Amino acid sequence: SLAGKTALVTGSTSGIGLGIAQALAEAGANIVLNGFGDIEAALAHIRTTGVRAWHNPADLSDPAQIDALCAFAAHETGGVDILVNNAGIQHVAPIETFPPAQWDKVLAINLSAVFHTSRLLLPLMRQRGWGRIINIASTHGLVASSGKSAYVAAKHGVLGLTKTVALETAHSPVTCNAICPGWVLTPLVAQQIADRAKAQGISPEQAQRDLLAEKQPSGQFVTPQQLGALAVFLCSPAADEVRGATWAMDGGWTAQ
Ligand code: NAD
Repeated sequence: SLAGKTALVTGSTSGIGLGIAQALAEAGANIVLNGFGDIEAALAHIRTTGVRAWHNPADLSDPAQIDALCAFAAHETGGVDILVNNAGIQHVAPIETFPPAQWDKVLAINLSAVFHTSRLLLPLMRQRGWGRIINIASTHGLVASSGKSAYVAAKHGVLGLTKTVALETAHSPVTCNAICPGWVLTPLVAQQIADRAKAQGISPEQAQRDLLAEKQPSGQFVTPQQLGALAVFLCSPAADEVRGATWAMDGGWTAQ
């Protein structure tokens, strides 16, 4: 049980982050949510489990706001034991026309934010004598797809950062690991399905089938609930010696 522990999950007002926050809350952890959109709905969703839940509106593209988020989580909630770096954005374009401002934004949110939250919260975990850092990378941390230069570079970077932090914490009760999901049907992917349907003049249903068939051998989406269960496992004593892992849950994507 994670009762008495507190988890900060970045980008947790929607999709995978909300699914992981829900699973950690069901296991008993208090939750600090972060992200944009329907915050009241996300808070209400988490509070149905009976745990305490807060929201902090930090924009993770801004290091000063990450400072404020970590200070809030450390001081207003009783302390942070579990950090799930989940916030992420996508931008799809060939490198020749990839807008430099989008490159900077994808790198800031998907990679640099993981550096900042980790460096700011690790001392607290060491002091509390236990901790978990779980980075939500992607199959795109392990392999590439065309049109996703910034995202693929950032996610490969997240896996390198994960391994480094795992080594720097190897002699401690803090672990650091990454989860590499394949396709999950969230707003981030719904946008790519819509773009695909429009570009190819096909139905959204056909675009969804094509998207899965191209990369994910199972033909099924991974769910936020399945990813949440893996995060809960990584927080359990059974995972004390799982360190620096890059754990795929991808319907066979990276087995090819
Ligand atoms: P999503 O768009 O549903 O959710 C993203 C979350 O991040 C939202 O809560 C949003 O408000 C928040 N967010 C966005 N920009 C932010 C910012 N600047 N500051 C703070 N919060 C911000 O996306 P998702 O599909 O649930 O993706 C979550 C993570 O999982 C991302 O890191 C993504 O790269 C990764 N991922 C997704 C898939 C997939 O198929 N959906 C696959 C592999 C990895």
